[in-house]
Amino acid sequence: MNTLRAKLDAEFPMLTWQYNVPLAPFTYMKIGGPAEAFVTVSDPSIFGSLQKYCNQNEIPLTILGGASNVIVSDKGVAGIVVRMAFDVVEKKETTKNGVTVVRAGAGAKMAPLVAKTVSWGLTGLEYFLGVPGTLGGAIYNNAHYLQDLIGEHVLAVHAVSPNGDTRWIPAEECEFAYEQSRFQKSNEIILEVNFGLKAGNPQESQEKITHATEYRANTQPLGIPSSGCIFQNVPNTEALRKTFPDFAQKEFVPGGYIIDQAGLKNTRVGGIRVSSKHAAWFENDGTGTSQDVKELIKLVKSTVKEKYKIELHEEVFYLE
Ligand SMILES: Cc1cc2nc3c(=O)[nH]c(=O)nc-3n(C[C@H](O)[C@H](O)[C@H](O)COP(=O)(O)OP(=O)(O)OC[C@H]3O[C@@H](n4cnc5c(N)ncnc54)[C@H](O)[C@@H]3O)c2cc1C
Repeated sequence: MNTLRAKLDAEFPMLTWQYNVPLAPFTYMKIGGPAEAFVTVSDPSIFGSLQKYCNQNEIPLTILGGASNVIVSDKGVAGIVVRMAFDVVEKKETTKNGVTVVRAGAGAKMAPLVAKTVSWGLTGLEYFLGVPGTLGGAIYNNAHYLQDLIGEHVLAVHAVSPNGDTRWIPAEECEFAYEQSRFQKSNEIILEVNFGLKAGNPQESQEKITHATEYRANTQPLGIPSSGCIFQNVPNTEALRKTFPDFAQKEFVPGGYIIDQAGLKNTRVGGIRVSSKHAAWFENDGTGTSQDVKELIKLVKSTVKEKYKIELHEEVFYLE
């Protein structure tokens, strides 16, 4: 660790490095060990040299947004953890076909970002106001609200490649799909995003926000440490349509519904339990560990597989 400290202090003296920093307090789940080296970066121009340096020197580099969709290992995270804090949000030109470009930094928090677009009379992002965390995390996972995917509103993403080059990647190349984007495989750092938004009706936008806020409050255990949905929804099949006729017309069967049907609500490992309000969510009673989460995930997966022959997949990402 001392070698890493010496290297970073020498190579990037403009950054305020901290070492052995507990990550649990940053995370929504309130679990996880320390980052070997930790830094908050708000200047996007640093990321190219940082990414290149880490790549050349084989130093693991992890980007943290709002830490609302991660399970941090109890042992902590090796190498560098960078908290993305580049959070500019600005309205740019309106194109001839009436689409207004909004540019936002990856460190922008979703709620104020969406609120700004609505205050500018633009529509499209309302349902994402209640997604915790940052824009970078939302793009990485192509955040969704019911059928709406954030990637559908993106024009291009500005990202840094592992060798330190930056480029604007058009949405068509971002490989957006349910719970997916190219960034989960590419090791690129998301710096900023251009959205294309249409002129809207502020009252209708407000109604959408209110509707989504009420829906969340009624269906999700908000206010308890969690990472939101631990599991993805499951693409429908002919067999699943027969097993879960309530969702026969839907593209997906909700992971939470399947887990509930398997009788797993309230199942507990250590300080982590399957929520009684939304079965795809795990709640931390304040004593839970990353190991508890992993064991409960294993238990839920094996029970669902045994009962329904369904392979559940995690929506959360593991950091270690
Ligand atoms: C109460 C609650 C409600 C939620 N509701 C929803 C919901 O409605 N819809 C939904 O889709 N999700 C939801 N989530 C999950 C989560 O909030 C979203 O996935 C969110 O977009 C994650 O953003 P983040 O900044 O917290 O990402 P983090 O948890 O910090 O990171 C997630 C992953 O993205 C990577 N990453 C983050 N930023 C960058 C970057 N700039 N460049 C490259 N990689 C990056 C990280 O390395 C990590 O692998 C919810 C979670 C909670 C706790």
